[in-house]
Amino acid sequence: MSAVRSLVLVSGDPQSLARGASDVFSALQAEIKRLGLQDEISLLMTGDLGRHDALPLVIVYPEATIYGPVKPENVPWLVEEHLYKGRIVPELQASAAELTGQIAWLTARQGTLPAEQRVVLRRAGLIDPEDIEEYIAHDGYEALGKAVTQMSPQEVIEEIVQSGLRGRGGAGFPTGIKWRFVAQVDNYPRYIICNADESEPGTFKDRLILEGDPHSIIEAMTIAAYAVGAQEGYIYVRGEYTLAQQRLQTAIEQAQALGFLGDNIFGRDFRFNIHIHTGAGAYICGEETALIESLEGKRGEPRPRPPYPTTHGLWGKPTVVNNVETLANVPAIILHGANWYRQMGTKNSPGTKVYTMLGNVNVTGLIEVPMGITLREVIAIYAKGMKNGATFKLAQTGGSSGSIIPASLQDTPMDFDSYSRAGVSLGSGALLICDENTCVVDLARVLLRFFACESCGKCTPCRVGGQRARQILTNIAEGVGSLSDLDDLETISTHLYNLSNCGLGQTAGVPIRDILRHFRAEVEAHIRLKVCPTGVCAMSGRRVKVR
Ligand code: SF4
Repeated sequence: MSAVRSLVLVSGDPQSLARGASDVFSALQAEIKRLGLQDEISLLMTGDLGRHDALPLVIVYPEATIYGPVKPENVPWLVEEHLYKGRIVPELQASAAELTGQIAWLTARQGTLPAEQRVVLRRAGLIDPEDIEEYIAHDGYEALGKAVTQMSPQEVIEEIVQSGLRGRGGAGFPTGIKWRFVAQVDNYPRYIICNADESEPGTFKDRLILEGDPHSIIEAMTIAAYAVGAQEGYIYVRGEYTLAQQRLQTAIEQAQALGFLGDNIFGRDFRFNIHIHTGAGAYICGEETALIESLEGKRGEPRPRPPYPTTHGLWGKPTVVNNVETLANVPAIILHGANWYRQMGTKNSPGTKVYTMLGNVNVTGLIEVPMGITLREVIAIYAKGMKNGATFKLAQTGGSSGSIIPASLQDTPMDFDSYSRAGVSLGSGALLICDENTCVVDLARVLLRFFACESCGKCTPCRVGGQRARQILTNIAEGVGSLSDLDDLETISTHLYNLSNCGLGQTAGVPIRDILRHFRAEVEAHIRLKVCPTGVCAMSGRRVKVR
């Protein structure tokens, strides 16, 4: 058998599949076979490849040439020219000339960009996620083997503590400390829960990790189980993530078959099993205590805290609840050590962060960059600037529950502490980047509508306050607001934060707080001048310059 000379990847995320990726894959298979190249070309359907403006994508290595959007009828030309004759086909390459046909992170890997490093996504898009052997060939389950055979549970916990890994779901709580809390409670059984109920609008990083590298989550949960003494684990997956569910199920069955799950893992007296639980679509079930209630078969409403899940979690037992991205860091930390991990990112926020870039930019998609990169760098380097040369106005981090970041904070390092000092939050990983045509009143109104719809209704400040704030913003947008409305909005925002039972209500007032703090003149223009400076709100027929 001759050596494989080219690796061809086809993007296999849901968007690509909806746009005919399977047909492209079949056409590639047939054409490669027709030309007798099957021993020289390795063809893989993989997960998300990080770029979403030209799907489905086909990437040919070792050149890292990116073709897209590829149609089945393009395939004979592509195979004959590139794979048979070795000539790149510029006509089929993904557009955005400045990318020269390469995804930003691939370019970064070749050392021409300063910032991108992949830990969480190091395999996503490069392996077949439905083949455990590919995972094993890329260091898969080595970290679990090291943990179980060479380290005590306490040593595993201390390695995670020393790494400084903090929760990537938005709160930034130290992961190792959480594990230590659970391990110290003298109460059994203990549980591991992977929170995969990713529901923040615009955030899809967890989905891409699950679809592109499901075994990394299985491995991480098993390491966590060994560390805290758990025997059962649950992955609570958002109901709409059908491909992720399917790949997770396949991964669990493959891991069981090879002894990475089940009894006597790595020949030791350690057993662990994982179950998948599908969410029914409620945003609030991404909150860890509502998720636990839902997992127990009850209505998904948050519990009062304390007590916290570390002592009173699933069925009242000690429970680790970690986000998908958080867990995906664990195998690499165990394998390479805490000191290696601390070389990335900042002192108090080590490691990397996965962002989904959206909005008025030239390139949208997924990036993984070290903690501490600035928003200006993300827009310039990875998003390739604002669309149509527009001016950056604001970014919204972390979906609905994040912060509104004005241009004045573009150079603030994006890490938990720097953002906290600046009075904003990093959120879960969505970056909605908006240009000067975005109306802040309209934006806040849309966000408040979301919170009003998703409130579980359990506590009054959230149930009533969110509705009232939305109504006031609607009045302002329609030109019937008054200046006293701004005082009311500030009061509601404060009460939402101080009096709501859970994070949903507490963050519902953030958009109000942020637009009044950073864009008050624009909001007042809606009231004093009865115009929308961006021309978005329906009352406006003209624009004015707001100073
Ligand atoms: Fe429910 Fe909102 Fe109260 Fe949270 S803050 S418990 S979502 S009503």
